[in-house]
Amino acid sequence: MTSTPTTPRSLPDLSAEELGEWMEREGFNAVHAPRVLRKLYDASEEAPGLHVRLPARLAERLHAAFPLPSASLARRQVAADGTCKLLLRLRDGRTVESVLMPDFHPTRAAGCISSQVGCAMGCDFCATTQTGFERNLTAGEIVEQFIQLRRVARSARRTLRTVVFMGMGEPMLNLRNVLTAVRRIADPALGALGWRQVTISTVGIVPGIERLREAGLGVHLALSLHAPDDETRADLLPMGRRFDVQDVLAAADRYQASSRRITTIQYCLLAGVNDSMAQARDLSRLLAGRHMHVNLLRYSPTGLSLRGRSYAPSSLERTEAFLAALRAHGTVAHLRRARGPDIDAACGQLRRREAGENADAASAIA
Ligand code: SF4
Repeated sequence: MTSTPTTPRSLPDLSAEELGEWMEREGFNAVHAPRVLRKLYDASEEAPGLHVRLPARLAERLHAAFPLPSASLARRQVAADGTCKLLLRLRDGRTVESVLMPDFHPTRAAGCISSQVGCAMGCDFCATTQTGFERNLTAGEIVEQFIQLRRVARSARRTLRTVVFMGMGEPMLNLRNVLTAVRRIADPALGALGWRQVTISTVGIVPGIERLREAGLGVHLALSLHAPDDETRADLLPMGRRFDVQDVLAAADRYQASSRRITTIQYCLLAGVNDSMAQARDLSRLLAGRHMHVNLLRYSPTGLSLRGRSYAPSSLERTEAFLAALRAHGTVAHLRRARGPDIDAACGQLRRREAGENADAASAIA
């Protein structure tokens, strides 16, 4: 395991207060700090630098201490439906994925952000976990994804209205940095996105949900359940062996009671694994009396799973029948439309493709 890098810091790593303190230490007036950071958060794709009028010596010191950009674009894929997937190369050469998803509303978009490089959770159907866990992202690297997505959205004449932490990694295992980043993203003087516009997802790490509740930020919680029973769930998600379905839902209940935000239950339909009518009924029974919504996800095949299995998405007929069964049992449920089916849309796919191509190129040269 590699630890999170702490130096050199980048501008997205800093709050306005921290940048102000740095300026004072360097002999400058801290009054410039909020303006500098605001400009960074609002820069366009065409002009990503810090275009703000500053005393020449301060501008020079600033660029020397915090060189821009702190992450570079390694790849970009754009799907026919407008979904845009970015592969960002971090300072240490590692890569992470971020995704911009156009909304039905013509001027809005949602962003999907990663919290770790790789993932240790071992969810059997996920491409990210196949390359293992490398390190946590810094708060600045998380903020950097937000800034990049906002720039891409603006280029597409859209506004980035919501962000979800559903990219690479388990946010609850890097919660300190995730929360620091969320505070900056939501800060009216910086990212200016409201708490309600942020969703943090988890495979069901109960202590993490409790810490999120204690933080009291009022962001939305999304829970990746994927099965209503412990046996199927633990088979798909190793974390299901540690925290059973009832424990996880009880933690989500507590979060919901204190945050007053509706929890979303994420459920990826896999043919013959978790898509039976009995499982739909059991899921509805679990959620009866709970004010939670189910988001059904269509699976994007990623080749052989971690344990050598070959999962397939549920057929459209089965997906619709599952959705209808949930609704018939009184559960609020939606089918999330597949995003970017003509690109490497599944989490971790683009990164894996790039790593494979780099390995091919290296062996061709050798
Ligand atoms: S689904 Fe999420 S938590 Fe599970 S292995 Fe993939 S990235 Fe990690």
